Amino acid sequence: MRRMLSLFLVIFVLLCAACTPRPASDADSGASPSASPTDDTQAAATTSAIDKSAWNLVLVNKWLPLPDGFDSTLTLAAVGNGQTLDARIVADFQAMLQAGSAYQLHAQSGFRSVAQQTTLFNREVAGYTAKGYSQADAEALAAQVVARPGTSEHNTGLAVDMAGSGDNSASMSFVNTPAFAWLKDNCYKYGFILRYPDNTTAVTGITYEPWHYRYVGVEAATAIMSQGITLEQYLGWSPPADTGG
Ligand SMILES: [Zn+2]
Repeated sequence: MRRMLSLFLVIFVLLCAACTPRPASDADSGASPSASPTDDTQAAATTSAIDKSAWNLVLVNKWLPLPDGFDSTLTLAAVGNGQTLDARIVADFQAMLQAGSAYQLHAQSGFRSVAQQTTLFNREVAGYTAKGYSQADAEALAAQVVARPGTSEHNTGLAVDMAGSGDNSASMSFVNTPAFAWLKDNCYKYGFILRYPDNTTAVTGITYEPWHYRYVGVEAATAIMSQGITLEQYLGWSPPADTGG
């Protein structure tokens, strides 16, 4: 009988523990997928406050191409190394270069016109058709390496491939550089995010790119980098379910 009482006591204690509201700090961890109703309300309120039509939050990915002629509306400005970016982000970009000057940061690739992107894409497609692939198959294969025209963030003037610490390869070796470590920790202060983090291909459509940074403004960048999420997730956008990634 005493064992039965003990058992009931244990169950009672466990039930009470389950009912106790979680401390507010848990809501910020992002570690638990089972957020309480309070957490959901706060998340929804945050999302609805975001102005998704803001120029600095334009979302471009393989499912969301830019409207025709978008890049002809941009005012570009030089940022060194023969590269240009949207003039509105140049002051923040230069401030980031200056703050990280110990790492010899510079733009390896900034704005690309849709026409330039078309040239890059067609060159890649031609390589596959020369190997005997059909046009459709060659385009699908090329799209895994080079973004289709109008679907590259470089077409917006808000994205930049960074070089630093003597590595201008725009490849995975950049992940091992002090320049990358600094950028990952500090880019948000200047309005930039690591746009294609590891393990987010399903939502971004792009594999890990430690060298590619995207301007979204300081407010959005702070939220995105502190939560370790993507621009898509920040905007509450999900890829269509039937694309196979
Ligand atoms: Zn890039």
